Amino acid sequence: MSKIRSTDSAPEMLVRRLAFGLGYRYRLHVAKLPGKPDLVFPAKQKAIFVHGCFWHQHQHCQEGRPPSSNTGYWGPKLQRNVERDEKSRAQLRRMGWKSLVIWECKTKSRTRLAAKLKKFLG
Ligand SMILES: [Zn+2]
Repeated sequence: MSKIRSTDSAPEMLVRRLAFGLGYRYRLHVAKLPGKPDLVFPAKQKAIFVHGCFWHQHQHCQEGRPPSSNTGYWGPKLQRNVERDEKSRAQLRRMGWKSLVIWECKTKSRTRLAAKLKKFLG
């Protein structure tokens, strides 16, 4: 089985560059944390997931709509991703971590993304 998620997607690189430019330092893909968050800020106990709208089924988003063909294949596969995401974030919460999901479609405005990062990371 190939991995569903590519580790260095373009939206993720963008978030990394922006966070770095704002002066935040992070670790990447910390495997010991639930869901292996994309950016991890250990001292703050905060984690960021950068999610592709399709793979993670972004609600109310054009890109997040499940495909209309071959639903028997995609439906359960995408549903599993969504359930896994929810489980990971709940586990992080229980461990005292805060997590933020940045959706791919929300990485288009750097200004808004920067504001979001600052709000979350303080
Ligand atoms: Zn989206």
